[in-house]
Amino acid sequence: MFFDNQSLAEVSPGVPADQLGRPLRSLRVSVTDRCNLRCNYCMPEQDYVWLPRQELLTFEEISRLVEVFTSLGVEDVRLTGGEPLLRRDLPKLVQMLAANPRIRDLALTTNGVLFAENAENLRASGLHRVTLSLDTLRPERFLALTGRDSHSQVLEGIAAASQAGFTKTKIDTVVMSGVNDDELADLIEFGREADAEVRFIEYMDVGGATDWSLDKVFTRAEMLTQLGKRYGKIIPVAEISSAPAQRFTLPDGTVFGIIASTTTPFCRICDRSRLTADGLWYLCLYAQSGIDLRRMLRAGDAVEDLAERIASIWQMRGDRGAELRAATGHRGVLVSIDQLRQDPHLEMHTRGG
Ligand code: SF4
Repeated sequence: MFFDNQSLAEVSPGVPADQLGRPLRSLRVSVTDRCNLRCNYCMPEQDYVWLPRQELLTFEEISRLVEVFTSLGVEDVRLTGGEPLLRRDLPKLVQMLAANPRIRDLALTTNGVLFAENAENLRASGLHRVTLSLDTLRPERFLALTGRDSHSQVLEGIAAASQAGFTKTKIDTVVMSGVNDDELADLIEFGREADAEVRFIEYMDVGGATDWSLDKVFTRAEMLTQLGKRYGKIIPVAEISSAPAQRFTLPDGTVFGIIASTTTPFCRICDRSRLTADGLWYLCLYAQSGIDLRRMLRAGDAVEDLAERIASIWQMRGDRGAELRAATGHRGVLVSIDQLRQDPHLEMHTRGG
């Protein structure tokens, strides 16, 4: 069971709430817009316009901004990219954030390619949890999907998570019709062996998904039908959560999740916002523009002023991008390639997925 808006407000006393009663609780921090894969649901183009390096926030600036957010009630911080492990010395940032006692959940989302060589260092630096992406168990399909021959490294990365002592590890799989929709059960079995919970994600029409079309979306209903045929009765997990995935239990007790952002948006319980690597703050994955926190930080604004500004902006938030997209009659690619080249902040890989 998800929180409704009333219970959201009740469990977050003192935390700024937006126009729909959603508290400011989760922050996704992108540390780089670069990626070492070219997944065709996210970065299918040959060339991209990258953020200028001198504009990227330093680790000190990221820590300072995160402190402002946690002083307002943010408890869950997730490091993202692009691929966050492409940012040099990432464990150092983890160590700085782990020293913040207000962070209850410090997590990382990675494509896994560089995770094995960093797992122990990240764990020792204080990272709590990791989510790794894996869209297929077949190396040739991985190559076709990502444009890179890195499948074995990703599998090594997933194995390294439990070896390094991480628990509650998740595997994220974007499911696309006719591409990898025949691997759901295999991925669940793989996740069970790897001691990780698999979450299937509907293909989303976000910025950067320039190959998206509705007929490529393998829906939650289709996933449940397919898995029901294989495993028998599937029962939704009864739980209170504002997490994007709805969780289900198979007859043998295995739990998996589905993130059905495209067909069943969860905007009404969305407590997350996003900070880009160059310090723009986005209130929604679909937002057209962000708030320039880097400029305020580098202008020397006091922490209290930043906090006040962030709280007042959050209190005006009414974003529900996925819901509005779902209500669109003729749904197609969200942002054209020309627009993306003019404003790379519209890319999902820039705003942290
Ligand atoms: S579309 Fe926007 S408001 Fe809706 S769940 Fe995603 S980030 Fe939250």
